[in-house]
Amino acid sequence: MKKILNFIGGEFVEPQNGTYLDNYDPSRGKVYSKIPRSGAPDVEAAVAAAQQAFPAWSALSAQERSRHLMAISKLIDQKLPDLAKAESLDNGKPLKLAQSVDIPRARDNFAFFATAILHEEDPFHNMGSKGFNYTLRQPLGTVACISPWNLPLYLFTWKIAPALAAGNCVVAKPSEVTPMTAFLLSLICHEAGLPKGVLNLVHGLGPEAGEALIQNNTIKAISFTGGTKTGAHIASVAAPKFKKLSLELGGKNPNIVFADADFDRAVKTSVRASFANQGQICLCGSRIFVQAAIYDKFKSAFLERVKGLTVGPPQEEDSRMGALVSKEHLEKVMGYIDLAQAEGGTLLTGGKQVQMQGEYAQGYYLEPTVFENLSYNCRTNQEEIFGPVVTLTPFETEEEVLKMANSTEYGLAATVFTQNLSRAHRVAQELQSGIVWINDWLVRDLRTPFGGAKNSGVGREGGFEALHFFTEAKNVCFNF
Ligand code: NAD
Repeated sequence: MKKILNFIGGEFVEPQNGTYLDNYDPSRGKVYSKIPRSGAPDVEAAVAAAQQAFPAWSALSAQERSRHLMAISKLIDQKLPDLAKAESLDNGKPLKLAQSVDIPRARDNFAFFATAILHEEDPFHNMGSKGFNYTLRQPLGTVACISPWNLPLYLFTWKIAPALAAGNCVVAKPSEVTPMTAFLLSLICHEAGLPKGVLNLVHGLGPEAGEALIQNNTIKAISFTGGTKTGAHIASVAAPKFKKLSLELGGKNPNIVFADADFDRAVKTSVRASFANQGQICLCGSRIFVQAAIYDKFKSAFLERVKGLTVGPPQEEDSRMGALVSKEHLEKVMGYIDLAQAEGGTLLTGGKQVQMQGEYAQGYYLEPTVFENLSYNCRTNQEEIFGPVVTLTPFETEEEVLKMANSTEYGLAATVFTQNLSRAHRVAQELQSGIVWINDWLVRDLRTPFGGAKNSGVGREGGFEALHFFTEAKNVCFNF
């Protein structure tokens, strides 16, 4: 059975306690590899390796660091088919999705930050006869990157690439639920000749390896993506230690369809936004609000499309939805289906596990599920489910839908379908959300800052904001 190893100081090493966790293939419900159950000693070794590598790495010119990151990006591109297969197997997502979204984006993340550092300018302020001031951005030292399981390599590299580009050394911990592509990334970094200790990967459980990492006093910044509860805990640890913190957390995103929308586009995009990656994308729209005048028409067109989504083994060409990531997660999502029924919701489609045949019989498959007749403030419509379960709710006015859309503790993403330009801008301003898509979903220029409002996070990742997060800005005031 394949064994994943930690990557510390440029070497592939066993966890110091010699213990391993099972890594499951969710499409078959079977263990297919072993993952280090690392602890504090492994984290300490990784931090020490990063500290040792920092002086040389941070002293490189932007061009030299850029060349290293581009070499990694090129290798990801060369190995794209294998990485996509590995991610689909590890996560349960359709192979097509890994091939077209996740792995290309991991490649682009490295290329984006490799080139960004070649073009960045720091501010210079001319004070006339008094002198001048300028901002000197310097790397922080050793930083931590911690990521979740839903877009394993995509989100992992979205943190690691800017941290390295800005001149930091990194200790990173991928999710224990989907560790394989992170392991493959460590092999790629080794092959690309990234200097030893610049990037270190420690595998293991959140409360063990993750906790040791956030507690470590040498770590200067933590970039975390995951659940809101975990984020709150990390914030409580980081604050008294004065670590810089970027938190990308949960969501419960509204998808708003006005009667004047391009109907076919709204239906098609809403189905994708609801069920891509089995609804396990933090940006998925799980509360669909439809203006009353087109509610019935939308409902029937939406349901027709949803019923046409093929749930199947992720490796098969015609599978539109694969397996949920784990048995525990499947059970959690099924618990929400029971809750929606207990809260009086009408089940329009789905709601049941899908039983596959043969080698896939033990996999974690669930039908795409749609409810209606639930109040906007019931638990089903307030709590993050993070699976293929959405609700349909009619509304009359802009004011009413904004009230419902903004009613949750979250504020990650929102999608609005309308052809009325003024309304689009007005609603975008009023939505309490880090990102608002108009007539589309998941399409974004990497230069824009990304992040959530309210309990969906603090700090912004992406674009130059991410590079700045991983630096200390020093003000140099020069007087004549
Ligand atoms: P999670 O919070 O359980 O785990 C995320 C990571 O944190 C994992 O690597 C885990 O091992 C680690 N971790 C757990 N406890 C820790 C601790 N005490 N100290 C340090 N690290 C710890 O989240 P998950 O279940 O892996 O991911 C799903 C969640 O992620 C959802 O809530 C989803 O909305 C969110 N998410 C948010 C975004 C975003 O951009 N805002 C993107 C993707 C996923």
